[in-house]
Amino acid sequence: MPNPSAPRNNGKQQDPALRRKNFDEVAHTFTKEEAVAEADRCLHCPTHPCQNACPVGVHIPDFIAFIKAGDAGAAVSEIMKTSLLPAICGRVCPQEKHCEGHCVLKAKFGAVNIGGLERYAADTARAEGALKPPVPAASTGKKVVCIGSGPSSLACAAELRRAGHDVTVLEALHAYGGVLRYGIPSFRLPREVINKEVQTVQDMGVKFKTDVLVGATIKLDELLKEYDAVYIGSGAGLPMMLGIPGENGVGVYSANEFLTRINLMQAYKFPQTDTPVQVGKHVVVLGGGNSAMDAARCAMRLQPETVTIAYRRSREEMPARAAEVEHAQEEGIQFEYLVTPKEILQDEQGRVTGIRFTRNQLGEPDERGRRRPVEIPGSDFVQPADTVITAIGQRPNPTIAKTTPALKTTERGVIALNEKGETSMPGVYAGGDIIRGGATVLLAMNDGIAAAGRINEYLKGK
Ligand code: FAD
Ligand code: SF4
Repeated sequence: MPNPSAPRNNGKQQDPALRRKNFDEVAHTFTKEEAVAEADRCLHCPTHPCQNACPVGVHIPDFIAFIKAGDAGAAVSEIMKTSLLPAICGRVCPQEKHCEGHCVLKAKFGAVNIGGLERYAADTARAEGALKPPVPAASTGKKVVCIGSGPSSLACAAELRRAGHDVTVLEALHAYGGVLRYGIPSFRLPREVINKEVQTVQDMGVKFKTDVLVGATIKLDELLKEYDAVYIGSGAGLPMMLGIPGENGVGVYSANEFLTRINLMQAYKFPQTDTPVQVGKHVVVLGGGNSAMDAARCAMRLQPETVTIAYRRSREEMPARAAEVEHAQEEGIQFEYLVTPKEILQDEQGRVTGIRFTRNQLGEPDERGRRRPVEIPGSDFVQPADTVITAIGQRPNPTIAKTTPALKTTERGVIALNEKGETSMPGVYAGGDIIRGGATVLLAMNDGIAAAGRINEYLKGK
């Protein structure tokens, strides 16, 4: 009989006092005993609301049943029927918004720790040599290219390869993984986990090339001559600017630049690595999403005196994963809610000295249902700071669209799709942040999987 009333196990974590000084992974993988006990809480609901709420429809009660039976290999094979990046998703998916948010045990006893179990299945099966990449179908003789190597392209490439196509991934950077690699820090997602999950896709026979910036190194139109279809999963890597005075001051970073220096270029190991990064005594991060949490937590590990996250709404509206906000608080990061930055102040050398904020109150909900911040007149105050990191959102890089006149984009710069999910160019498909302008790993993967299905249909008619 299941034991749903046992307390949810959130998993062990590195001590906050230690981890705020290192880049080692914060959360630990369950032991077998912990995983079996957590799996034993699941009621195996016949209507599986958790599974229905998963963007890629992972067979959640079924994989949990395998863990309960002590078979991590079978559990991961079940997950990999719909998601090829289980060790990544188990670590970074916002489970509280998807599967765990819909678990029937949530209100009374705490949701089953589905993310922790997914991660256990992937890590354990890999360690036991039981994680097997899916076997591709017989060759179709068709060639497809995926632009970008983020979760969206990886999922699309794997599905296309599974169907028997010859698939190549082209990546602009010198390493694969997209935001997983350059945005999400190693203390949340160790680099070897990314390497191994990319390796699974490589083991299926997908070819990868680095340092190819489509639109510059090679044009999309040229790719269409060489390949039967193209998938664009180039993400939204261009930071949005605040548009306030002082934004160009010395000591202001975009979260994108700050995180890329630390995560991709390993600047926290400087001078052993080539790229430096510097923070002063008082760091302020502007924003309330995952980028803001990651930037603040990276900054904390560079050991300034204070790190503060300043957000224009309240805790309730913050879009970051709940676990990251909790971890940030445990690590000593301060939160200043309901404030809007008006000006970044500088000394005569142009170095940042502080930020002038206005305080807000919450007004009517916006189109997404989040209450709008309304400024309180006369509430200005100055927060001292010598480092400011802006994390207020990202938008697509225009390189491909600018060099491909036939490819339609919206006024937000994202690639436009018709009601059938097709771009304005035959044979060209797109998904992930390049069509959404910023979303989650699983939504990006789901777009890639859906596009692979459309590409399969398109290639059948070719
Ligand atoms: P990306 O991951 O952005 O990958 C696109 C890739 O395409 C990049 O590698 C880029 O270099 C490459 N590229 C771009 N242009 C070209 C070109 N012209 N030619 C060749 N290659 C090109 N989501 C979660 O679910 N959980 C989280 O915890 C989470 N944390 C996040 C933290 C940060 C700091 C950020 C920025 C985002 C986070 N997200 C999180 C969101 C999530 O990472 C993204 O939604 C997801 O990575 C989008 O995937 P993608 O494949 O569409 O694009
Ligand atoms: Fe198990 Fe919760 Fe899903 Fe029900 S909703 S099957 S209890 S994980």
